[in-house]
Amino acid sequence: MTDNQDLIDLVRTIPDYPKPGIQFRDVSTLLLDGPAFRRTIDRMIALVDPDSFDVIAGIEARGFIVSAAMSYALEKGKVMLRKPGKLPGKAVSIDYALEYGSDRIEMHVDAIQPGQRVLLVDDLLATGGTAMAGVELLRGQGAIVSQALFIVDLPDLGGAQKLSAAGVKPLALMA
Ligand code: 5GP
Repeated sequence: MTDNQDLIDLVRTIPDYPKPGIQFRDVSTLLLDGPAFRRTIDRMIALVDPDSFDVIAGIEARGFIVSAAMSYALEKGKVMLRKPGKLPGKAVSIDYALEYGSDRIEMHVDAIQPGQRVLLVDDLLATGGTAMAGVELLRGQGAIVSQALFIVDLPDLGGAQKLSAAGVKPLALMA
């Protein structure tokens, strides 16, 4: 059995979502399976050295699900990278291009102490636009970001290469 085949089997592909031609990898089916969700988090944790980062930054919305579970298990603080207009305090934002459009994420300016080491977490890495926006936002606030962790990496879309070129090691459970 391929590593993580049990989890791969639970991620379904939905054609033409959200636009024609996009093959959307839907992790909601994996999340519905409680024991498999737990194995997902345990195996994501196993891919990193908990001593190598201080806090975990999760990207809204599916990134919150996995990053929050990791934060709980590792007792690491959780930085929220949010969709626009959701944060009550003073925030900084960054616009970025998506595989299917454009978007913006924001974070509180005081969410990071300069020099803090941040593990960036999301559900899926495609073109890398979202993750790179997260890296830039965090670095802009003085964070050290050297690794990013995903359930799924779609290597053909170049995100992992983009992160590596920016000095961020991409890690994922499945391609
Ligand atoms: P990227 O910015 O790397 O092109 O796209 C990754 C971001 O968009 C992630 O935040 C991810 O949640 C979302 N995304 C893009 N394509 C997919 C997909 O096929 N499946 C899932 N689950 N999320 C996707």
